[in-house]
Amino acid sequence: MARGTVNEPQETKELVWEYLFIKKEPLYTLSAKLSRTENLETTEYQLRKLKKHFIELEFSEWAILPEPLKRVHRKYAEYKAEAEKCLPRTPLQQEAYEMCSNGDHSWFNDSRFDGHAYKFEVVSEAGDNRIQVLMKRTCHFCGHVDVSGP
Ligand SMILES: [Zn+2]
Repeated sequence: MARGTVNEPQETKELVWEYLFIKKEPLYTLSAKLSRTENLETTEYQLRKLKKHFIELEFSEWAILPEPLKRVHRKYAEYKAEAEKCLPRTPLQQEAYEMCSNGDHSWFNDSRFDGHAYKFEVVSEAGDNRIQVLMKRTCHFCGHVDVSGP
């Protein structure tokens, strides 16, 4: 799980961010507005958390946002340059890239993409009383990380 991940579904996050960062709705009136216009019940605490989350958004989370939201992020230029470095260059990469763009990384389980569209590493993590060996896969395009047991 990425740092700062909030449990709200992606659509809810995007909706709230759209109100906060595109429509520039003040935070203190947003809860009432969302309940009235979107039939969405939120607390001010949740909205505050979501606002903070967007400001601190990681590249992998930014990469799957709709374009208008990508554009209003403070790291837009930096993240865009990053994304351009990682564009697909082969048909195999293109195949993975399309799934990545939809937020789908189930192709991490397909070893055809190993070294082409994701980086595979074995990492160890000190647990309570033993060292755990984990498989770590990192998406070439958006930086999404998946860590799983052996
Ligand atoms: Zn990805």
